[in-house]
Amino acid sequence: MLKLNLHSLSNIIRPEILELNAYHVPPATGMIKLDAMENPYTLPQALQEDIERLTAHTPINRYPDPSATLLKATLRTALQIPDRMDIMLGNGSDEIIQIIAMAAARPGAVLMSVEPAFVMFRMIATFATMQYVGVPLRTDFSLDIDAMLDAIARHKPAVIFLAYPNNPTGNLFDKENIIKIIEAAPGLVVIDEAYHAFADASLMDKLAHHPNLLLMRTLSKLGLAGLRLGLLIGRTEWLSEFEKLRLPYNVSVLTQLVTEIVLQHMDILISQAEHIKAERARMLAQLTAMKSLAVFPSDANFILFRVDHATHLFEKLKQHGILIKNLDRSHPLLDNCLRVTVGTPDENTQFLATLETLLQNET
Ligand code: PMP
Repeated sequence: MLKLNLHSLSNIIRPEILELNAYHVPPATGMIKLDAMENPYTLPQALQEDIERLTAHTPINRYPDPSATLLKATLRTALQIPDRMDIMLGNGSDEIIQIIAMAAARPGAVLMSVEPAFVMFRMIATFATMQYVGVPLRTDFSLDIDAMLDAIARHKPAVIFLAYPNNPTGNLFDKENIIKIIEAAPGLVVIDEAYHAFADASLMDKLAHHPNLLLMRTLSKLGLAGLRLGLLIGRTEWLSEFEKLRLPYNVSVLTQLVTEIVLQHMDILISQAEHIKAERARMLAQLTAMKSLAVFPSDANFILFRVDHATHLFEKLKQHGILIKNLDRSHPLLDNCLRVTVGTPDENTQFLATLETLLQNET
């Protein structure tokens, strides 16, 4: 029998896993939750009742359709996915990143992204035994294209992940530069369009031109975070390899059914995204008017800003029942940075008023 002590843990568990901290989700019960880029709106009551009625009779004793044929067809129409491109579904786009990394993890293979970027790119590279290379952005969070092209030539990455818009910075990278990266890359380039609904920009129309390009979307930011559904879009040649690593029933019966119903009402989700964009404009204007903040432009449903004593301010906001994201010390370029998700008008008003009061008390 294995005697469980620290010695046996380190004999079994890989050292890079022992060193990791699990992805931390802070408790938010009773708080104004502006930390996770969720859509703050629920569905209209009539649609909620449709869902209730239809889910009541769903055979949850059966496994889901492993290929989710019906849902994929609906997604193709709702998200305007080109006919020639294939779709793979994941339990959130996190799972898709993991599948790609597992497939590409030949010995010594590199997964590249920019820094700061979505933290799961780095974490999943480690899970999958890939080597991670993060190329720093410029101080305004634009792509440092020369550094990127140098790093591509030096490290020959198997996969490059770029979020468009980027998280946690909120900006869209220059499209011409992204094309240069796709053309220079010896391997795959995955454009992660998690925040597409708020951005009016996409590389979907570039898929046909670049055989090494893949695109990710998720329904999480659109209002279905709890269902966990992400998509990978691209050529069958690539997707049929990734399909081999996808666990057969990764998208549940309820996720398939409820997404199917909600996507018949895409107009509701789009109109919610429009409300979020309008609130983003209001928040950007009000935050920019606050003298002690440096506010970064955003094409996503969140806003990044820099302020003196960010960690102290973050804690104070928490004491006032408002949870945002503290990025201070997470990366040198994010020193004293906080990130707030755009919530409902009421939530945003409360956040802005509390922030203003706290900043006045500081001076
Ligand atoms: N990509 C980016 C850039 C993200 O910010 C997130 C979530 N924060 C995800 C992917 C993961 O989304 P999900 O797994 O919910 O689809």
